[in-house]
Amino acid sequence: MNIVVWLTLGLILVRLAAERWLALLNRRHVLAHANEIPKAFQRIIDEPTYKKSVAYTLAKERFGKIEEIYSTAVLLIVLFSGVLPWALHLFSHGLGQSAWAMAAFLFAVGFAMSLPGLPFDWFSQFRLEEKFGFNTTTPKTWWSDRLKGLLLALVLGYPLLVLILKIVQWTGVWWWLWAWAALLAFQLLMLVLAPVLILPLFNKFTPLPEGSLRERLLALAERTRFRAQSIQLMDGSKRSRHSNAFFTGFGRFRKIVLFDTLVQQLTEPELEAVLAHEIGHYKKKHIPKMLAFSAVSSLAGFYFISVLAGQDWFYRAFGFEPGNVAPALLLFGLLAGTVTFWFSPLIHWWSRRYEYQADAFAARVMSEAQSLIGALRKLNEKNLSNLTPHPFYSGFYYSHPTLLEREQALAGKA
Ligand SMILES: [Zn+2]
Repeated sequence: MNIVVWLTLGLILVRLAAERWLALLNRRHVLAHANEIPKAFQRIIDEPTYKKSVAYTLAKERFGKIEEIYSTAVLLIVLFSGVLPWALHLFSHGLGQSAWAMAAFLFAVGFAMSLPGLPFDWFSQFRLEEKFGFNTTTPKTWWSDRLKGLLLALVLGYPLLVLILKIVQWTGVWWWLWAWAALLAFQLLMLVLAPVLILPLFNKFTPLPEGSLRERLLALAERTRFRAQSIQLMDGSKRSRHSNAFFTGFGRFRKIVLFDTLVQQLTEPELEAVLAHEIGHYKKKHIPKMLAFSAVSSLAGFYFISVLAGQDWFYRAFGFEPGNVAPALLLFGLLAGTVTFWFSPLIHWWSRRYEYQADAFAARVMSEAQSLIGALRKLNEKNLSNLTPHPFYSGFYYSHPTLLEREQALAGKA
């Protein structure tokens, strides 16, 4: 076998091994604390809920193990069975090598690659989440979500692929810069359009009714000079009992969105604290900073694809003929995760720093930290979060600090 094949195989298997090792550490850590509620949580959570959170964590770990091994096997088969060059041959034979035909090839492979995961998505929703009382999705909603996702990919993703492939034909050696600019423009357009055109396809949004909660949240927005067009309730309970809050849109189109499940679970001061935390993200400019980072990453990605597209050895290693950019795009799409996986601790560390900053902001504008702590405790309890992750595991995967870490950071604030 060729060295590129060995290297690819190595990248894929090393990632799987790292995933399994981290999961094993975490599982042992959870089991070591399973019999008794750790001291720090004894006043926060009752025995049955704690046991249930341990069982939920372990069940997700078992499921994750099977899913990771299965998806790795699917990836290996797709990469090394020769099915991709065969499919490309089929498409170029039938449709030619135009941008439209090659985009159709990429779209078809992407669609086919999403199919093997469907039974796992189904099991996760209707067995695992169901068993722990989170699932509220009906099979009808589940299927219609998938169908809508596919149609959106067809309406938005396919033309974008065609455009990128056209750009390769039009612009020569600097195509990667132009393709990146096109992707960036598309992403910015989506940031503006998604809240208006896409989110309503999946959920119902209604203005938060008049009353003390609305008064309180509007007063907070006023106090923090956060301009928002409206506060909306989203029917998150249509799919799950998990809860969340976020805001969408730009400038005067900005909307604050609260899941109906969140409003049911938290008291008014706790909801105010959650919103204050979200406003903190905005005030500290976390969102533009994250967007800038993702733009720089995709620029690096496109540059890398353009380099790969010029390497004959790379094409031959996977059974393709050089001279067509589509296989380079495809292989990059399939393999980028094996490299970016290793950056996730850094990105998550960065994200956790932002969470601390948003928490500190919330405590400052509320002049107290107790409401936020109360909200975080309830959210951890209601979502059956793992209260005792292994530090390596949470360090690698968690975009948010653990409950204990956040409480410790908030202690003494405001
Ligand atoms: Zn946050």
